[in-house]
Amino acid sequence: MNDDQVTQDVNECVGSSTTDDGIVEKQVGPARIQIVKGDIIREELDAIVNAANNSLLGGGGVDGAIHRAAGPNLFKECWTLEGCDTGDAKITKGYQLRAKHVIHTVGPIWRGGQSNESKHLSSCYRRCLEVAIENQVKSIAFPAISCGMYGYPVPYAARNAMKAVRDFLIAHEGVDLVRFVLFDEPAYHEFAKALGEAIQEKG
Ligand code: ADP
Repeated sequence: MNDDQVTQDVNECVGSSTTDDGIVEKQVGPARIQIVKGDIIREELDAIVNAANNSLLGGGGVDGAIHRAAGPNLFKECWTLEGCDTGDAKITKGYQLRAKHVIHTVGPIWRGGQSNESKHLSSCYRRCLEVAIENQVKSIAFPAISCGMYGYPVPYAARNAMKAVRDFLIAHEGVDLVRFVLFDEPAYHEFAKALGEAIQEKG
């Protein structure tokens, strides 16, 4: 499937417009939720979210990419944080990144769906947004937390993420833009579809 076909497919699924950049967007009160395909380390928003592990001391996937791009001072600050519980979030500076801050969260490892994975995943999104508001972060980019090494099925994760973010934005003011940055086409497609469903669901 080429990019044009995917964009058309996404539009049919979500009933919303997609720009030439492939940004799918929906409004939730005064805030916008966007879905884009790309590399999160390029984002110039107030904060990007890192899908970290409990140690906060670096790993593979998006965590490795963020640490490489931010430089060694990110590791030094993470060292002072003494880890992070699953479902919680902690903030650092962005150092050499374009984003001013990194909000580190720890997603659940998928164990078949009976181990509170869903509760922990929605807690990640909520806690990141709470930490954002506490730190005057108005624009924030999320990767697909837990969808890589941690094995969370992407369609379930996408629905969980969209519902958690939508409900948070309805209940709280302070964040203007939430952008999901998906690394690959299947994840982009699933998150765009879930966005359409989450907003329609609420009317
Ligand atoms: P987890 O351990 O929480 O599963 P991973 O980093 O393994 O975290 O994967 C989370 C998601 O981030 C996956 O969908 C993966 O494809 C994606 N990803 C990896 N690198 C990047 C990047 N540079 N920008 C955006 N997403 C990324």
